[in-house]
Amino acid sequence: MKHQETMLNTLPNIVKESPLNGFSACDIGDNHLFINMDTPLRKDAFKLTDEEKKQKIAHHFAEIMEVLGLDLTDDSLKGTPERVAKMYVDEIFSGLNPKNKPKVALFDNKYQYNQMLVEKNITLYSNCEHHFVPIMGVAHVAYISSGKVIGLSKLNRIVKYYAKRPQVQERLTNQIAKELQEILGTEDVAVIIDAKHLCVSSRGIEDNASSTVTSFYGGKFNDSEKIRELHSYVYNS
Ligand SMILES: [Zn+2]
Repeated sequence: MKHQETMLNTLPNIVKESPLNGFSACDIGDNHLFINMDTPLRKDAFKLTDEEKKQKIAHHFAEIMEVLGLDLTDDSLKGTPERVAKMYVDEIFSGLNPKNKPKVALFDNKYQYNQMLVEKNITLYSNCEHHFVPIMGVAHVAYISSGKVIGLSKLNRIVKYYAKRPQVQERLTNQIAKELQEILGTEDVAVIIDAKHLCVSSRGIEDNASSTVTSFYGGKFNDSEKIRELHSYVYNS
């Protein structure tokens, strides 16, 4: 608990006095105050099988629908709890389970290509962990080879794996970057995410025009020339 105490001591007074202090949990998350790099998973997260999880989720989702007053005997609604459960476990939250992590093979950099490689406009669908509504946008990923190269589609798959979790955009950005640094054995990795959050556009402030941009620049990408070069590939075409 020592670590936590230290962390709390470094927090601004505003937060020490009252954890939310009038801010929403989303505001706090956006300020990075309580955000870990790791997705907050319990130790027993995978004790249940996928099938058991689907049964439980369907049961509870049916209850939510019933509480809302919906008639679950209606033909259009009766399959919804099972559909939602299947979608949660097999699709939109499948990236919680390490068994779904993409297997990545690296290749020797035979062409001796030593400039940055940019995979841009990677389609990104995630879900806000504060509201469980979609985050939609694009990810731009770049790296400079330290001797190994990765299959291009694997960059998309790594983005997809971490996106398929309840997320905050800052953590998603860092998780993708750290994973690529580890796989590629280099610090020289950059990730930019530009995404719209439905919790901002379809509810709350209901702003449909704004988007959120987050970035990670590691190693050589901390150089302003490299950042400018990366931005020229990403934004001018
Ligand atoms: Zn949200």
